[in-house]
Amino acid sequence: MPDRIYLDYAAAVPLLPEVKKIMDEVEEKAWANASSLHQEGREARGVIDDARKSIADHVGADTEEIIFTSGATESNVLALQGVLEAKRLAGEKPHLVVSKVEHSSIIEWARKLEKMGLDITWLSVDKSGRVDEQELVKSIKENTALVSIIYVNNEVGVVNEIKKLAEVIKSENPNTLFHTDAAQALGWIDFNINGLGVDLLSASSYKLGGPKGVGLLYIKKGIKFNPIFPGTQEWEKRGGTEATSLIAGFAKAVELSKTWPKEQVSDLGDFLISEITINIPDSVCNTPKEGNINHIAHFSFSGVESDVLTLALDREGIAVSPGSACSSGAVTVSHVIEALGIDTQKYPGQLRLSLGINTTRQEIETAVKIIEKVVSELRQKS
Ligand code: PMP
Repeated sequence: MPDRIYLDYAAAVPLLPEVKKIMDEVEEKAWANASSLHQEGREARGVIDDARKSIADHVGADTEEIIFTSGATESNVLALQGVLEAKRLAGEKPHLVVSKVEHSSIIEWARKLEKMGLDITWLSVDKSGRVDEQELVKSIKENTALVSIIYVNNEVGVVNEIKKLAEVIKSENPNTLFHTDAAQALGWIDFNINGLGVDLLSASSYKLGGPKGVGLLYIKKGIKFNPIFPGTQEWEKRGGTEATSLIAGFAKAVELSKTWPKEQVSDLGDFLISEITINIPDSVCNTPKEGNINHIAHFSFSGVESDVLTLALDREGIAVSPGSACSSGAVTVSHVIEALGIDTQKYPGQLRLSLGINTTRQEIETAVKIIEKVVSELRQKS
């Protein structure tokens, strides 16, 4: 069996050996409950403090502004819930603005809140998947408590200009808070949270080669925030015993991301896009040429079905995704593809290819040849 080619790094990145080493060490020496007063507990507390400081420094935040969670899904829900609940408890009737291309964790939670009576504005996007500034301006009302806009879209790789959008929001209503889901941005884009102008930011560890089951929520100092799980941990914003080794692994992964060969991966992404669109007739690249993140590339093909194509490629040794991993398995077209206005009658085959720091040109050349062959075979059969 020839080596498999993994092109689904936006879904998950394998645990880096350096990260695993740190986690094993922490499990050995700092396994105790970080809230315990004894020496063993203080050992665990020290590990968490160091990890928090290291991540806070990396993103330009204060340590008190970083909350560890179980991942970006929890961070996203906590951001929405924490802000809206605080407003409701203060007797206000908050309004929420959410883009139509958010990760499903935001979309589903917002839909649930809408059913429960919350006033929500859903922002559409342009053909490239970016939020339209004018529409954003129009959406903001006096009681708009929060706007949530994804930083890097997990299906098509388009990057929203978060800094600019933050300025737009604040100039319309300085009391409106701004949350961004940076699960696909951390590591790939160097940002400083203060410079970005956001009030809340979510991220996840395993997208960077850290462990699964840990993420973070940045909450700007001074924001009125009501926790979902009350408790003494995480600055009283997220109760529950801290997952010490996961947190230490997350911090190590963030530190290692400073050394990633981003330019090289970006060039490979460009190469992949041109190889597919040149060599496979009736294929469209939905990732915009400008303002994208090149390690995520999304394509539509005529004459093939997404799931059939993904499974046929899997049998040929290529691991890819028909969209986001969270929406695969669903028979329906993803909400992102719908929002982008892709003609899914003409182009029913959706494919997301995403590269990692160890992806090689050779792998891409081989993968493109196999995709070309598989698409052609499937089209002949249909
Ligand atoms: N947001 C985005 C943009 C994502 O890509 C993901 C993971 N697919 C999540 C949120 C959810 O992250 P987690 O799996 O850590 O809950």
